[in-house]
Amino acid sequence: MNLPRAGNCVREKRIRFSGAGKDSGVAIIDRYARNINYLRVSVTDRCNLRCAYCMPKEGLSRIGHDDILRYEEILRIIRVAAGMGITKVRITGGEPLVRRGVVEFIASLRAVPEITDISLTTNGILLEDCAEALFAAGIKRINVSLDSLNAEKYARITRGGELRNVLRGIQKAREVGFSPIKINTVAIKGVNDDEIAEFARLTLSNPYQVRFIELMPLGTAGGENNGRYLANDFIRERIGQIGRLDPVNGNSRKNDGPAQIYRLAGGAGEIGFISPVSRHFCDSCNRLRLTADGFLRSCLLVDDEMDLKGPLRAGCGDSGIEDLIRQAILRKPRQHEVICEEGLVKKCMKEMPAIGG
Ligand code: SAM
Ligand code: SF4
Repeated sequence: MNLPRAGNCVREKRIRFSGAGKDSGVAIIDRYARNINYLRVSVTDRCNLRCAYCMPKEGLSRIGHDDILRYEEILRIIRVAAGMGITKVRITGGEPLVRRGVVEFIASLRAVPEITDISLTTNGILLEDCAEALFAAGIKRINVSLDSLNAEKYARITRGGELRNVLRGIQKAREVGFSPIKINTVAIKGVNDDEIAEFARLTLSNPYQVRFIELMPLGTAGGENNGRYLANDFIRERIGQIGRLDPVNGNSRKNDGPAQIYRLAGGAGEIGFISPVSRHFCDSCNRLRLTADGFLRSCLLVDDEMDLKGPLRAGCGDSGIEDLIRQAILRKPRQHEVICEEGLVKKCMKEMPAIGG
């Protein structure tokens, strides 16, 4: 596919999808020649945990019930976005599995033919009970967040979470047939950096992809994250001490997004590094984010959002919604500015659970 060069406008192009099983479709290309085909949707800002690096101690002042997008509104936005070139959707939150009806909502996405990939990010607490239904609803790829393998520490980081629930959830996901199962771990200085090797060793005998994600400075908890950030180079070096890290497929693959992928020599699983701070992947960022309160955000780390809920509820038609999505893409910045030398520069006021990570 020939992408247009960076210019001043968003372009839509008829293209031939490769591998999507379709003859033709639409691609939406932004000002910096990025093909925007991925929408992450936060279905709720509520959560059954309060991870110290994500939420303030007292929890969030929640978005009012009426201000949360209804499922039919989310579905409508996804349909319109799919008509413009979105092919991948990730359901996230807050904790998506705490929102009633989420499995049925996910199943309803199968009625949007352009969406060829639906995935979910969860903290895993409710996964054991939901895994079969989620699989039947069409989710085959799942990311489970897990920041400690020590029950006490897990409870401390999450302010009360039970590790065994997550481990049972992951086990159940494996039995049900989810593949891949990715384990998201945010490495935090002085908190879980002593567990890096243990997380890496998980991949020796299990087919998981353990992904180390760099800590980012968002929301109210963002300020506290300053000073706790660890660059992925440090983590890679630590893991290198327990075995050889072989790059997998030149370090990246379809569906691995911005992760750089390695395998520990002899390992059944993989290790991924997602480095939004130390090696940002803005040049190839293909994402939009729909927040739980109905705003479209073109960059996780920049507080610039397009209100979709207001116009939607005021009766805006599909072409109007399409126009707003196009405008949001037009405003997608070339890159974020969370530069890190000694620490993080706090840039984003919106809370992570509302945006969806
Ligand atoms: N509750 C679900 C979960 O924890 O998987 C989904 C939402 S959570 C906001 C999505 C991801 O964002 C999780 O993997 C979490 O660890 C990550 N996250 C939250 N705050 C972060 C921060 N400040 N920096 C980096 N990652 C963060
Ligand atoms: Fe909840 Fe996920 Fe944030 Fe933890 S990281 S508080 S589980 S939204």
